[in-house]
Amino acid sequence: MLKILIQLLDWIYYKNCYFCKKAANEGLMCKSCFEKLDYNFSMPIKIIHDVPVYAVGIYENNLKKLIRGLKYHKKKDLAVNLAKFIYLFLDKNNIDIKNHIIVPVPLHKNRQKQRKYNHMDLVANELSKLCSCKINTTLIKRIKDTKPLYKLNRIDRMKELKDAFEIDKLNYNNEPILIIDDITTSGATLEEIIKNLQTQNIKFLKVIVSATP
Ligand SMILES: [Zn+2]
Repeated sequence: MLKILIQLLDWIYYKNCYFCKKAANEGLMCKSCFEKLDYNFSMPIKIIHDVPVYAVGIYENNLKKLIRGLKYHKKKDLAVNLAKFIYLFLDKNNIDIKNHIIVPVPLHKNRQKQRKYNHMDLVANELSKLCSCKINTTLIKRIKDTKPLYKLNRIDRMKELKDAFEIDKLNYNNEPILIIDDITTSGATLEEIIKNLQTQNIKFLKVIVSATP
């Protein structure tokens, strides 16, 4: 009986770690599980039209669980941990984001309705607190509900992404931009976004993705 009562109290007062399941009272990710996240190398994984794309880690183990939990399983609090992971990566590698605005890659409104939120908006929010950067969620608009890209070859991907985005400079004051996304596979979506921004004469860009497969 006492054991049950203690467990009940544990359940009420502590949040168990989503990863190791231990009661840690450190939010959804305990310190030890956070420290198990592996940082990727500091060099950009891709350069797209002169824009460096950095990947914080590899999409496996705890990082995969973190992104999936945040994206598909409504573990919104994990945005804090992903933002911290990104922030520490930027800091460790001296990637300068001073005066940058953070622009999360948007979802189309149909997808956002389905998922109820854009997980990268949540990460952008938490990251902005850590680096004292502003966020702009209106600069890039996703105006076409594209079909899943992973089944398509490169040419069909580019076709599908054509006219998928619109740039709205209304709230934009020429700040350098840090685009954030969760994972990049072919880079086709980022390429289309970068092309659109550059066409609008927006040139100071960096991209950071949480993971690369
Ligand atoms: Zn843990």
